Amino acid sequence: MLVRCDILLEGLVEMGLGDNLMATGFAKGAKDRGKRIAFGNGSSIIWDHHSEQIFRGNPNIAPPGSEGAEDLEWVPFYKTSRLYNHHDHVKDRWIWNYQFKPIPGEVYFHPKELQWAKNFGKGFVLIEPHVQNFKGSAPNKTWPFSRYQNVVTMLKQKGYKVRQFSYGMPILAGAAEIHTPSFRHALAVLSNAALYIGPEGGLHHGSAAVGIPAVVLFGGFIPPQVTGYDSHANLTGGATSFCGSLTACQHCIDAMLSIKSKHVNDAAKGFLECSTSLAGSGETSGHRPIVKSYSQASDVT
Ligand SMILES: [Zn+2]
Repeated sequence: MLVRCDILLEGLVEMGLGDNLMATGFAKGAKDRGKRIAFGNGSSIIWDHHSEQIFRGNPNIAPPGSEGAEDLEWVPFYKTSRLYNHHDHVKDRWIWNYQFKPIPGEVYFHPKELQWAKNFGKGFVLIEPHVQNFKGSAPNKTWPFSRYQNVVTMLKQKGYKVRQFSYGMPILAGAAEIHTPSFRHALAVLSNAALYIGPEGGLHHGSAAVGIPAVVLFGGFIPPQVTGYDSHANLTGGATSFCGSLTACQHCIDAMLSIKSKHVNDAAKGFLECSTSLAGSGETSGHRPIVKSYSQASDVT
C-alpha cells in the first residue's frame, strides 16, 4: 500500500508529468507523416523518469536507442530545456516564455487500463485539492482546502458525484476516494469524468489530453497563456503578473485568495449544465472524451 501511494503521489503532483503530457501534444500526428518525434538535443534522445509511462504505446514518439533512425524529427523539449520557462537564479523564480502555447496531448491506454477504470463509473467530478507540498512554490499554487470543501458541498447538493484520488493526503468530505496503481490508471479514470477541478499541474494537462473540461486554479504563479488550454476555465484571481516565484510569495497567495468558492462553482456549473443539456437533447457533447488505446503482448494491470 505504501509503495502504491508513493507512486501515485509522485504521479499526481510532480511537474514532470505535465511536461511529458505537453510533449505528446507536440508529437501528435507525426506517424501519419511517416515520422517519429525525438525529444532531445539532436544527437541523444533525452527522457526523464516519467517519460516512458506517459509515452507508452504512442506511435508518434521515438524511444531512446532510436538515434540514427531515418524517420526522426528532433524537438528540443526535455528536462533543462522545457521551452516554456527558464530559471532566474538571482531571484529564484521561473521566467515564462509567452510565445509558448501547449497543444492538448494524448495518452494511448492499454485496454486493461481502460477496463480497470470502468470500476469507477462515469460522469463524476474529479477534484484534486493538493499540490506538491515540499516545493518552495507550493504556497503559491495552493487554493485553500476549505474552499475546495465548499465546492464539493455545492456539487453534492446538486446531485453530482465527486471523486478524489487518494495517496495519503486529506480527503474532502463527500468525495469518494480512488486508489490507483499508476498515473496512467488515474488518467484512465479521468477520461470518464465530466469535469476536473484542481491546480495547474499533471492532472490539468491530463484533462486536456483525455478531452475533459477543467476548472484550473492558476492564481498568480504561472500564466494560463503559457500552460493553460482554451477549452478550460483558467482562474487567476485577477492576477495581472505571474511571478514564477519558487519561494512563498504574498502576491501569489493574495491571487489565490481572490478566487472565491463561488467563482469555481460558477465555472463548474457552466461546464456541467452544458454537458447535461447536450446529453438530454441527444446532441453530442462539446467535451467528448478522447480515449485512445493500444494493445501489445506485455501485460499491464
Ligand atoms: Zn507571486
